[in-house]
Amino acid sequence: MHDDIRCLISESEIHAAVERLGRQISDDFGDSELTVLGILTGSIVLVTDLMRRIEVRHQLGLIQASSYRGETTQPDELIINLETLPEIRGRDVLIVDDIFDTGRTMTKVQRELERFQPRRIRSAVLLWKKSRTEGPVRPDYHCFDIPDEFVVGYGLDYNGEYRHLPYIGVLPPQS
Ligand code: 5GP
Ligand code: MG
Ligand code: MG
Repeated sequence: MHDDIRCLISESEIHAAVERLGRQISDDFGDSELTVLGILTGSIVLVTDLMRRIEVRHQLGLIQASSYRGETTQPDELIINLETLPEIRGRDVLIVDDIFDTGRTMTKVQRELERFQPRRIRSAVLLWKKSRTEGPVRPDYHCFDIPDEFVVGYGLDYNGEYRHLPYIGVLPPQS
């Protein structure tokens, strides 16, 4: 059905990497009050897989980041919706996102969370497009470096679709 999508990272490679990431996070946050904070919508598949690989007690939170291209907003304006943010004061927060591209989303989320006075903020992503990264912020944990190609699957969408693919793939050039 999706024969035209080129597989970049297979389902089994993702599962092995998420399992390793879960173990590392368990080691690093074992003695802390941890909140795993997924950024909707792209992180949903990663965050639900990852939380079951984290062997230490933690809470789950979800917030939304969206880029709007509307008449009433600036083009590409990044909106962070914190209405669903749980209490994080004094807690360790691990922000989880699908992909670290330019780094603008992670930079803005971290800045907005600071005012809720967490103990520390760390970040974990499945994918990192290193060649596109701007500014000084880097993900603390990542599973795969990828080239500058537009990818879909495992939560990542194109026009709202393809999030359900169990692997990371590249769409064919538009015909
Ligand atoms: P950043 O703010 O780091 O530039 O971009 C982060 C967000 O842009 C991601 O959470 C994701 O929503 C979107 N994004 C960046 N690169 C890709 C990509 O290759 N494929 C998809 N589907 N989304 C991407
Ligand atoms: Mg996103
Ligand atoms: Mg998207």
